[in-house]
Amino acid sequence: ALDSGFFVRWMAAAAGLVDREAERLTELDSAIGDADHGANMQRGFAAVVKALEAEPPGTPGAVLVAAGRQLISTVGGASGPLYGTLLRRAGKGLGEAPQVTVAELQAGLRAGLAAVRELGGAAPGDKTMIDALEPAVAALDTSLAAAAEAADEGARSTVPMLARKGRASYLGERSVGHQDPGATSSALLFAALAEVAR
Ligand code: ADP
Ligand code: MG
Ligand code: MG
Repeated sequence: ALDSGFFVRWMAAAAGLVDREAERLTELDSAIGDADHGANMQRGFAAVVKALEAEPPGTPGAVLVAAGRQLISTVGGASGPLYGTLLRRAGKGLGEAPQVTVAELQAGLRAGLAAVRELGGAAPGDKTMIDALEPAVAALDTSLAAAAEAADEGARSTVPMLARKGRASYLGERSVGHQDPGATSSALLFAALAEVAR
């Protein structure tokens, strides 16, 4: 089972991968957005790590709720409220249990994903973070490594898609041929999860 320390390490690993890949995220966002996704994610996850260090939450649910709150309050872009909602809603779903199973994490993230879809109005195929998150959450019952692989495949699957939500949708046909930045950062979130479990 996974304890609060595991979830804190997950968030720290996500912050590390976001730092490492920030330039790439910004490059992808410069092609079909406003070139701030790397900076947005870095600012958000740095705040998450800082908040978790200052006041380490005692349960997995509380870690995700605190992380989500930081993302919502520190990221100006669309991705902040969306990722914040994902983690906050997932954390609430985990309740106050001191440890959770991967199956419970999957159920929490399913609820988080539903909340993100409701907030952003995006469906699979719209070329957003949903295209990486949805298959990743679905693969969680196989393994964390399978979820990371599914997220990466999902991110790559956005290349030929036409953007229907967010800034990239303003480009219409010109959004085709580029990987979605948010789907790419979602893959990093799941890569971090698999990394911490190894
Ligand atoms: P902004 O577009 O406000 O500059 P970011 O660049 O940080 O915000 O994030 C852009 C990413 O957010 C997109 O690549 C996409 O994956 C995701 N996104 C944008 N709008 C939506 C939406 N309505 N639903 C789901 N994801 C979205
Ligand atoms: Mg942007
Ligand atoms: Mg922006």
